[in-house]
Amino acid sequence: MPDSRPVAPSIAQRLETVRARIATAAADADRVAESIALVAVSKTNAVESIAEAYAAGQRVFGENRVQEAAAKFPALRADRPDITLHLLGPLQTNKVRQALALFDVIETVDREKLARALAQELSRGGPKPDMLVQVNVGREPQKAGVAPEQADAFIALCRDELGLPVRGLMCIPPADAEPAPYFAFLAELARRNGLPWLSMGMSGDFEIAIQQGATHVRVGTAIFGDRPPISQ
Ligand SMILES: *Cc1c(COP(=O)(O)O)cnc(C)c1O
Repeated sequence: MPDSRPVAPSIAQRLETVRARIATAAADADRVAESIALVAVSKTNAVESIAEAYAAGQRVFGENRVQEAAAKFPALRADRPDITLHLLGPLQTNKVRQALALFDVIETVDREKLARALAQELSRGGPKPDMLVQVNVGREPQKAGVAPEQADAFIALCRDELGLPVRGLMCIPPADAEPAPYFAFLAELARRNGLPWLSMGMSGDFEIAIQQGATHVRVGTAIFGDRPPISQ
């Protein structure tokens, strides 16, 4: 008898599905799919799974912990120098040097102390990753990010006073709310500050984010499958 249990899709198949969904959302929004970068969020996933995604053509990855990224990516990069790595989680000032050496994009610049520590470390020379300012669009106390009403001033501090290479904005809207207004708010904030990159949208809402102008969508579970609950 043939086994009729459904076979879990492979990472390559899931990636294919996500790419197709991005293409459809882009077309619906009259945008070109190439203007949207897919960041595969590999936190909690093993090096083997990341290698599988790479083999299926994925090049951009995101991690939310410096320590975990430092444990996984140097080995992966040894054979795959075209990997690009984004930091998506909170950055402690004592890990700034390590983060600058490891990540190509730091998406979570969210407070003055961190901005100053980044500028201080950059002044010593060395790698200079692109940076995004994280905005706490829902003003949630448990979430990182600069408050919406302080965002313009914080962007000016980072970019104009400290000279950080700020390319855009990032947000994680409240989990239980309709995300579109938050994405629209972030897009308007980026527009009026002349910032081209908008990192917004995750597995559950990336099509809506693309509709609102996302240039980077951060997709984890739709590519790698469910994570253990404790690590989310
Ligand atoms: C985990 C994480 C994601 C991906 O979430 P999924 O729902 O698994 O797609 C995106 N952005 C950030 C900041 C994350 O921490």
